[in-house]
Amino acid sequence: MAKQLQAIRGMNDILPDQTPVWGWLENHVRHTLAQYGYREMRVPIVESTSLFARGIGENTDVVEKEMYTFEDRGGDSLTLRPEATACCVRAGIEHGLFHNQQQRIWTSGPMFRYERPQKGRYRQFHQVSVETFGMDGPDIDAELILMTWSLWKKLGLDKHVTLELNTLGDLDSRQRYREALIAYLEQHVDALDEDSKRRMYANPLRVLDSKDKGTQAALVDAPKLHDYLDDESRAHFETLCAILDDAGVKYVINQRLVRGLDYYNRTVFEWITSALGAQGTVCGGGRYDGLVEQLGGKPVKACGFAMGMERLVLLLETCGLVPEEISTTVDAALVTFGDVGTYGMVLAERLREACPSLRLQVSCGGGSVKSQMKKADKSGARIALMVGEDEKRDGKVSVKFLREEKPQVTLTLDELIATELAANC
Ligand code: ATP
Ligand code: MG
Repeated sequence: MAKQLQAIRGMNDILPDQTPVWGWLENHVRHTLAQYGYREMRVPIVESTSLFARGIGENTDVVEKEMYTFEDRGGDSLTLRPEATACCVRAGIEHGLFHNQQQRIWTSGPMFRYERPQKGRYRQFHQVSVETFGMDGPDIDAELILMTWSLWKKLGLDKHVTLELNTLGDLDSRQRYREALIAYLEQHVDALDEDSKRRMYANPLRVLDSKDKGTQAALVDAPKLHDYLDDESRAHFETLCAILDDAGVKYVINQRLVRGLDYYNRTVFEWITSALGAQGTVCGGGRYDGLVEQLGGKPVKACGFAMGMERLVLLLETCGLVPEEISTTVDAALVTFGDVGTYGMVLAERLREACPSLRLQVSCGGGSVKSQMKKADKSGARIALMVGEDEKRDGKVSVKFLREEKPQVTLTLDELIATELAANC
């Protein structure tokens, strides 16, 4: 027998029972983004490998070991996007979107990283990525955070996530801090994990982010980033904190928060939950003022974030926040019995036209009334519309209430539309 075909490890099917939660979450995300005036952009899933190598940084986990890179038939090196910020910047430069303009944009879809699959960590996963261009901040930095906060409140997640915040300073202050940190790491090199040893010269700030316990213990007395901040970055950060304070958004300042990708400067933030085990970051972002220039454009200030949709879905489910009614996909089920010919199908079309928001499922393939009624009940429909020879002759429909203690009624089409289906018309 042929081997059964399977999905690629770490790449998930999202089955019909699971999509209602996704749709519900995505609707809230879209609505919130629209409330703040953000516009959608769609970019390709595949880009030139050099875009990510240049954009994300050679010494990051993503570029070093997580990219799906392949040669196409023409011999070009292509990569399935591991994140969307570099793609948005590439598109913005290519189409002149940054020319004396401010932009608030978002994009969403699958991302690909060759990681070890586990709960909350997959090889194909979905992000909503939000990017702003042409604004210095800190007001726009604050807006991005307030927007995520507003989304958490709508979803009921506000009690389940905490905000961690940091500033990385400007390039000069980071350079000075880098030197001090390298000098410290050199004295503690034996206590560092292998990744950190390898990175301590090329990307020492990432050592702060190491998940290794030994490395974290060795960092206790490491120089503090905030002692090296330039005055402007310090003022930027203080204003950002003041806006969040006045808006009532709580946060924890975490000086070890540097984030995985190279391109951040000044503000960085993460929304974290303790409900998902090790994969606790549901949203992360910050400022990346150097990225547009690094990818060949004129310098443009930028700030953004990305949310991990699988982790948000998991969190909503874990916290019991998914409303039950979103899984109902049908309002009414149409059941036929006896010799009614085409009457049922034609009637269903008329009802859908008259009541545009009605979700009506026709029992196809026949079967006994009992088995059809069973299916109607399972569909989640509120009412069953029953059509037999009598109903066909009189131009009527019998309505059986599946969720209420109400006697069955027989109505003309007009009566049915005016009463039982009025809410769907
Ligand atoms: P982590 O530290 O968990 O690996 P990251 O810093 O690599 O995250 P980002 O590149 O900032 O993640 O991506 C933004 C968000 O996308 C993360 O906060 C997370 O919610 C989600 N995400 C990242 N990688 C994965 C993955 N492999 N599977 C599922 N979600 C992911
Ligand atoms: Mg990662």
